[in-house]
Amino acid sequence: MLKIQNYKDKINPLLGNYIPSSISTPAEKALYDVDSMFGLPEKEANEYRFKAIKYAFKHHYENNRFYRNICKEKGITPDDIKSIEDFNKIPLIPHTFFKDYPYGRDFAVWLANLMSIEIPKIVIKGKNPSFDDVIDAFQQAGITVCYSSGTTGKFTFIPRDEKTYKMGQYAIARCSLEMLHHWYDHDSSAYLLFPNPKKTNIYVGKVTNVLFDLVRDVRVAIDRKITTDLLRISMGVTFNFKEKMMSKLVKAANRKMNEEMINNIINWVERMDRKRERILFTGAPFILDMVMDRLIEEGKTYDFGERGGVLTGGGWKTHEEKRMPVEGFRKKVEKVFGIPPENCLDLYAMVEANGFMVHCPEGHYLHIPTTYFHPMVLDEDGEQVSYEEKGRFAFLDSLAMSYPGFILTGDEVKIHERCPICEREGPVLEPEVKRIKGEEIRGCAEEMRRIILEG
Ligand SMILES: [Zn+2]
Repeated sequence: MLKIQNYKDKINPLLGNYIPSSISTPAEKALYDVDSMFGLPEKEANEYRFKAIKYAFKHHYENNRFYRNICKEKGITPDDIKSIEDFNKIPLIPHTFFKDYPYGRDFAVWLANLMSIEIPKIVIKGKNPSFDDVIDAFQQAGITVCYSSGTTGKFTFIPRDEKTYKMGQYAIARCSLEMLHHWYDHDSSAYLLFPNPKKTNIYVGKVTNVLFDLVRDVRVAIDRKITTDLLRISMGVTFNFKEKMMSKLVKAANRKMNEEMINNIINWVERMDRKRERILFTGAPFILDMVMDRLIEEGKTYDFGERGGVLTGGGWKTHEEKRMPVEGFRKKVEKVFGIPPENCLDLYAMVEANGFMVHCPEGHYLHIPTTYFHPMVLDEDGEQVSYEEKGRFAFLDSLAMSYPGFILTGDEVKIHERCPICEREGPVLEPEVKRIKGEEIRGCAEEMRRIILEG
């Protein structure tokens, strides 16, 4: 078992690619210099956060014309931010803004206008490029455009430069493994229950790329190339007759691949069990749920015990309008794999953010990495509500350098000033986060679920 003070020393050597050679900005310090993402004394965490967010706000104000105009309209400048109490003056961008994009070459211009960094030369071929063409062209220039999609087939697109993308990956590694430090060992095998990070720009795929550096061996559940067109057509959003026909073929192919995916995972579990390996499942809970249903049907159980870990993310929908009970899921994991509930944690994140809220093993509340990420809960008039009151989640994310990460989300949350169960300092969210009524269902597992289950 690894002491919390040592977990950073243990994983940092593996994460060299994600750590800049000199840690200079307040945002970098708030991520890389801290020994704990969730355990610093409040005063210390506040100091890091104040400097990091103020730095990020100034950066976007000075380098992003579109954001500066919003600030000017509200009469706010970086000089107005003198303490954390002033953070509520920082103008927020509604999440719907990132869904309101044009098509073709205009899409590239729209993406470029979102960005707060000097834009490298981007070469886009053809008169009427698809989203995937534009995304590929940005990638050629070092900008990773990640996306997530909702039930209506609308995407949320977020451009990350290399620096932001690396900080995001480092952050997810640090945040998850801090909560799993009692389990973590590089000498483990992982099954990534998401698409292959090398073959898609879906955000959950992209950000979990770092997993390959954290454990000895990684298998991937969905190993084919996934594009925005494939996703949209899988969801049944089609623009012409040809796509309508394609949609049927895609759905049939998806069903077949789904079957193969479950078989592959079960074969892997069998092998890992025979070899007494340490295993980690990371990714969409509904995929693991399908695997467990099959194993229960076949009357098979395992006893991985402390050798097993589960880190889920991306949402809890199973079938249309149904939600998987999260606690029930943990019980099922214990029953089928023998993995104890304290090794079965969920993570809450979204494509627009580089903040990763992770369950504590003791109480399964979602802890917030407050050295670099500032959470807020607002009522429908945009006023902050107090602790323990429900409202709309908003955040200020200091790690987003390439776009302003000051965002009003479509999620409903409640924040507690401290975790009701564990001893860690700092605020937590309730164990489960839901969409606000009337907001379309999204969540990073949602598009996966549609590819695999619909049709
Ligand atoms: Zn806790």
